[in-house]
Amino acid sequence: MFRQARWREPTVFELGELGEGVLKGDEYRRALKYLPEKLVRRSGIRIPDLPEFQVVRHFTRLSQENYGVDLGIYPLGSCTMKYNPRISEEVAALEGFRDISPHQDEEEIQGVLEVMYRLSRMLSLLTGMDEFSLQPAAGAQGEFVGVLIMKKYFEVRGEDRDEIIVPDTAHGTNPASAKMGGFKVVEIPSDERGMVNPRLLREVVNERTAGLMLTNPNTLGLFEENILEIADILHGNGSLLYYDGANLNAIVGWARPGDMGFDIVHTNLHKTFSTPHGGGGPGSGPVGVKSFLREFLPVPIVVYRDGMYRWEWGLKHSIGKVHMFYGNFLVALRAFTYILSMGLEGLRRASSIAVMNSNYLFRKVSRLRGVEPYPRDSRMRMHEFVVSLESLRRETGVSARDVAKRILDYGVYAPTTYFPIIVPEALMVEPTETVGKRDLDLYASVVERVVEEAYNEPDKVINSPVNTTVGRLDEAYGSRPRTMKPSERWARRDG
Ligand SMILES: *Cc1c(COP(=O)(O)O)cnc(C)c1O
Repeated sequence: MFRQARWREPTVFELGELGEGVLKGDEYRRALKYLPEKLVRRSGIRIPDLPEFQVVRHFTRLSQENYGVDLGIYPLGSCTMKYNPRISEEVAALEGFRDISPHQDEEEIQGVLEVMYRLSRMLSLLTGMDEFSLQPAAGAQGEFVGVLIMKKYFEVRGEDRDEIIVPDTAHGTNPASAKMGGFKVVEIPSDERGMVNPRLLREVVNERTAGLMLTNPNTLGLFEENILEIADILHGNGSLLYYDGANLNAIVGWARPGDMGFDIVHTNLHKTFSTPHGGGGPGSGPVGVKSFLREFLPVPIVVYRDGMYRWEWGLKHSIGKVHMFYGNFLVALRAFTYILSMGLEGLRRASSIAVMNSNYLFRKVSRLRGVEPYPRDSRMRMHEFVVSLESLRRETGVSARDVAKRILDYGVYAPTTYFPIIVPEALMVEPTETVGKRDLDLYASVVERVVEEAYNEPDKVINSPVNTTVGRLDEAYGSRPRTMKPSERWARRDG
C-alpha cells in the first residue's frame, strides 16, 4: 500500500542564495537601453539564484511528494475530484487552440468561437437554461456574477430588495458572494431531514428578499425533494432562485435545474465535466440564465449570425466584464471535449455510477462503530454522503481530523472534514464515478482499520500521519503564512 517515494525536499530558499536575480544578466543590461526610466528596477527581486535544471528537479520532486487524482482515490466531498481523461489534454494542446491570441479577429478564430458557442448550447441543454456566459473563472465567481445579476435585475425593475437567503448547509462561498454583492445574508436552518423546509422558508421570505441560493442535491448529498414548492414560494414573492451547480454531477443527464425553477445557475466545469482542478489548473464556472435575464449577462457572449460566430457586446443591462478577455478558454475546451466524448448517454451513466459508488461506500462506512450517518437515517444518498464521528470522539478522544490524517498513512486521500458546518465531527465523502469496486473496498477497509485503531490505539491516530513526506501541519500557521519568515515556515512543516 505504501508506494510513494519519500524524501525531504528543501524549500527553494534553502537551495540557493537570495540573489540579484535578473539584475546581473547581460540581457537585462541590454534591455535597460530601451526601457523608460520609470520602469527600471532599482533593487533585485528576492528570489534565489538557481540554474534551470535545479529548478526543474526541485519542482518535479515536490510534485512527486504530492497525492493527486492520477495516483488513486481522492474522495474529497463537494470538490468532485474525478480523473481527467487524457484526450481532453491532447485536444487542449492542439496548436490551433493553444497558439492563438485573444486579440485576434473573429474571422481568424471561428473554430474557437464555435467551441464556445456549442459548449454554451450544450450547457443550456444539460441545465435547462437559455443562455450562458463562459467568463467566470470558477464557481465562486459564478456566484458573484449571479448575485450581481440579481442586483441589477431589481435595480432595473425599481425594486428595493437587499436580502439573499442561504441554507445553513451552504458552501461558504454562497454567503460570501451575497455579502460581496452588497446583500444581507439571511440563513435558514435545514430541518431534521437535512433539507430546506418550505414552512420555514415561508417565514423568512418577504418583500426584501432578492433570492435564494441553493445547491441541489445539497451538501449532505440529499436531493431537495420540495424544490418545486420552494421555487413557487420564491417566484410568488417576485424573488429569484440561484443554483449552485457544484453538485450537478449527481444529476446531469437525469434532471435539470432549469426545469426545477432555477433562474440563474453556475456550473463548475472542473467538477462536473472533468478538467483539471485545484492545483491542477484554473477552473471555469459558466453562468446560465433563463431568457428574461439574458440582457444582464457579462459581455461578450458568443452568437451565430449571418453565417459566422461573433462576439456580442451589446447586452442592454449587462453587469459588464468579469474576466480578462473571454474566460479560461482551455478549461472550457476540455469540458467540451469531455462532453463530446461521453455523449448524453455517457454523462447519464457517469452520474448513475457516481451515485451508486457513493451509496456503496455509505453502507460500508456508516455501519462502523462510532460512525453515524448525517442525518441519522439510511435514505439513499446522491453522489456524496456525510457521516458524523461525534460518538467516536466522545468514546475515544479521536477527532474527525485525526481520522482524516491517519487515512493518509494508508496511501489514499482523506475525505473533506468539518463541512457542512452544521455536522459535528463531519466527514464528507465523494468517491466519484472514476473509481472501481476494488478502490471502494480498499477505501472502506482503510476507514474501518482507522476506526478500530481509534478504539485500540488512539495515540497512533492522534499522532498521525507518519507515513507521509510531510507530517501534521500547523493549521493556524497554514492560514497565516505571511506573518512568518520562510525559515520559520520550514521549521514548522513537521509540526
Ligand atoms: C466547490 C464549491 C463551490 C465553489 O466553487 P469553486 O469552483 O471552487 O469556486 C461552491 N459551492 C459548492 C457546494 C462547492 O462544492
